[in-house]
Amino acid sequence: MNYLITGGAGFIGRHLANRLAALGHNVRVIDDLSAGEKEALDSRVLFTRGDVRDQPKLWTLLHEIDVVYHLAAKVSLPQSILYPREYNDVNVGGTVALMEAMRAIAAPRIVLASSGTIYGDQKRQPVDEQVSPDLRTPYAVSKLAAEDYIFTLGRHYGIEAVALRIFNAYGPGQALPPAYPPVVPQLLSRTLQGGSLVVYGDGRQTRDYVYVSDVVDALIAAGLRDDLDGEVINIGSGVETSVNDLIGLIEEVTGRKAHALYNEEQSGGVRRLVADVGKAERLLGFRPQKSLAQGLRLTLEEDERFRALLAQPVV
Ligand code: NAD
Repeated sequence: MNYLITGGAGFIGRHLANRLAALGHNVRVIDDLSAGEKEALDSRVLFTRGDVRDQPKLWTLLHEIDVVYHLAAKVSLPQSILYPREYNDVNVGGTVALMEAMRAIAAPRIVLASSGTIYGDQKRQPVDEQVSPDLRTPYAVSKLAAEDYIFTLGRHYGIEAVALRIFNAYGPGQALPPAYPPVVPQLLSRTLQGGSLVVYGDGRQTRDYVYVSDVVDALIAAGLRDDLDGEVINIGSGVETSVNDLIGLIEEVTGRKAHALYNEEQSGGVRRLVADVGKAERLLGFRPQKSLAQGLRLTLEEDERFRALLAQPVV
C-alpha cells in the first residue's frame, strides 16, 4: 500500500512511518521539521520537507496514495493559549488545505490524529465517544474543528474520513522542549538527573497514558478499514493513572528517587481523564499491549537520551 504521513517526522509520526516501511509499504512523509527530526526516519521512507498548507507539494505527494495519515500539528496545550492564531492556522488551516489537495488528486481516505483533550473535564469516567466535548484550550478547539472539517468536506468530496482521539501518548523519541515539555519524558529526565519535579496540585489528577506502539497499531488498523467513514474512536490504555502513581512507577523503573515539589494547581485543570476504549476494540480489534510499567521500561531502554542519563551517577 501507499501511505502519506503529514507530520511524519514527529514523535508518533516516525514510529508509524518506520513500522509501515518495515512492513514493506511505500511511505511518504511531509513535515516542516518545526518539531520533527528526519534523522529518526527509516531510510526507506521518502521524506519531503514542507508545510502541510503547501498545496502544490501535496499534489505531487498525494499521487496514488491509498491512505493519508494527518498528524502535522502544533501540539502544546499551554502554548496554544499564547498563540491561538498560529494553532488555528496550522491545525485547522492545514487540515482544510490537505482536504482540498486530496479532492484535487482524488485521494480516497484520511485518518486524523485527534485528541482526548477534547473531552476536557467530565464527571463520568471513563469517557466514551458519545460525551459532549468540553473545550478548554485553543488546541482542543483546533482538534475538534479538524475533525468537523474532515467529516464535512469528506462527505462533499467523496473522501472516507476517520478520527482517532489519542489520549496521552508516550514512548521513546518523544520531544522534550524546554518550554512545555510533555509529562512522561519530563518526569523521566528530571528523576534520572536527580532534580526536582514540579507537580501542579496534589498529584491526584489522573490521565490515560498510552504507549506509542499501541497508538501505531490503532492507526494502522484504522487505515486498513473501508467501513469507518465518519467515526471518531478513542485510543488510550483504558487505565486511569494519577501523577503520584506515575512518579512511583518512574522511581521503580529508574531505581532513582524522585523529588516532587507540589505547587498550586493551574487554573482550568482537568481532574480526571481516562478513555473508554470499547469502540476501538469493537471496530479496530484494538487492545493495548503495554502496561505503563512496561512502556516506561521500553522508553528507558530504547531512548538513547535516557540510556545516557541512566549510565551517569546521580550527583
Ligand atoms: P510532534 O510535535 O512530535 O509531531 C507533529 C509533527 O508535525 C512535527 O514533526 C512537526 O514538525 C510537524 N508539523 C508541525 N507543523 C507543521 C506544518 N505546518 N507542516 C508540516 N509539518 C508540521 O507531536 P506528536 O506527539 O507526534 O503528535 C502527532 C499528532 O498526534 C498531532 O496531530 C497531535 O495533535 C496528535 N496527538 C498527540 C498526542 C500525544 O500524546 N502525543 C495525543 C493526542 C493527539
